[in-house]
Amino acid sequence: MEATSTRPVRVAIVGAGPSGLYAADALTQQTDVPVSVDILDRLPVPFGLVRYGVAPDHLSLRGVKNTLEQVLSHERVRFLGAVELGSTLTVEQLLRHYDAAILTYGASSDRHLGIPGEELPGSIAATDLVNWYCGHPDAVREQVEPALQDVRAAVVVGVGNVAVDVTRVLAKTGAELEHTEMPQHVLDLLEKTGITDVHVLGRRSAVHASWTTKELRELGALDDVDVVVDPAEVDLPVPTDRLAARNLAVLQEFAARTPAGKGRRIHFHFCSRPVAITGAERVAAVEVERTEVDETGAARGTGETWTLPAQLVVRSVGYRGLGLDGVPYDASRGVVPSEEGRVLADGAPLSGLYVAGWIKRGPTGIVGTNKKDAAETVRSLLADVPGLPGAAEPEPAAVTALLDRSGQPYVELSGWQAIDAAELALGASRGRARTTIHEREALLRAARGGQPAAG
Ligand code: NAP
Repeated sequence: MEATSTRPVRVAIVGAGPSGLYAADALTQQTDVPVSVDILDRLPVPFGLVRYGVAPDHLSLRGVKNTLEQVLSHERVRFLGAVELGSTLTVEQLLRHYDAAILTYGASSDRHLGIPGEELPGSIAATDLVNWYCGHPDAVREQVEPALQDVRAAVVVGVGNVAVDVTRVLAKTGAELEHTEMPQHVLDLLEKTGITDVHVLGRRSAVHASWTTKELRELGALDDVDVVVDPAEVDLPVPTDRLAARNLAVLQEFAARTPAGKGRRIHFHFCSRPVAITGAERVAAVEVERTEVDETGAARGTGETWTLPAQLVVRSVGYRGLGLDGVPYDASRGVVPSEEGRVLADGAPLSGLYVAGWIKRGPTGIVGTNKKDAAETVRSLLADVPGLPGAAEPEPAAVTALLDRSGQPYVELSGWQAIDAAELALGASRGRARTTIHEREALLRAARGGQPAAG
């Protein structure tokens, strides 16, 4: 932009999750370059994975929302919810209206196992289960709710923190979930499942799991759960990696416990990978192959298999970022290719287009990891400002005029505040702190000050 320009640099951030909000924070906390920031999200509500990924029973982790909310209230920040890049607004329109855009739309899809039976009813992705229990408007209730009926044994594939979340939510009692923000229908259904056994499968050894120790330890402290670990599977040398050593110690302590005859059990199986999911009309069992870890650290099949009867399989083997029309995409990694946050096309930076968060680096790290990641991107953007061509439509009102013309409702900060108040009121009506409103239309209605439907 011209050095003589006196107006603020207009930045659009696409995605109001932690990366987007940390990017907005980094932009507004600096004073060298005057900025105005619009945060767009395809959902009517902000907070991305803090609302729809962090487990509903981890209330202290979800509390980061309170800090992130302050960013939304900054005088130079505007929230525009229910605005989807690629449908409400094209990338080309975005770049006409803003001097720069930062894509922080995350990794919403799931990875697949590529084994027979994966598509049977009763086999679901962790992303689908998490969306459902967090009350995401896109959750597919017709898929998830039947999968949870008549289940006694569930298999969770993967040993990362999402697998821990899913296992814990499936194994908790209704009383342990009551204090969460889950939609009421989720709570009602989870209270009634007859699940007695959850089997967690790690394809490599106990020291290769990617969960963190605090989360793992929590599985051994649930009200009505015995943890079951085969001592032989954790009889391993102490690894040099400190996290792996701490995790191994927790699992060894689990293995040494005498079962207390609790109502539910969580079983850990290492060096075990699913090779087929079987069943006539729905999942009935998982064929598991024993593996060993080869010299490169990868799992290698031994040919020895066993059958694990189960009526539900949850594939928790990682998230995957999706491409967007008009934006470069690296399909092999599921990310937008970038260098220091600058989007690359054929190896060269695309003027005015930046990326942060999971769609930049892949689905790794905790919420706080995104702060440093977003700060790097914002540093690049600010350094580039003198060379940016400048938006053709530099007025903030031009975007809302465009949205008004589209005829689709969008949600500003006051709308989110009305949703927030409606969720608190809905919770209070059932003696809960908050009940998440899960339907898009109900969210939009609440944003306009209408009453959400109970339940
Ligand atoms: P993750 O940590 O990458 O774990 C994925 C798991 O899937 C790994 O155990 C991996 O095993 C396994 N896996 C991948 N492909 C597989 C296959 N074909 N067959 C069997 N197993 C397979 O990912 P995540 O659990 O989805 O979590 C994503 C990120 O969110 C992580 O950084 C996580 O820490 C973070 N998160 C944090 C919290 C928290 O702080 N409380 C909660 C949730 C998520 P290999 O290692 O063998 O590949």
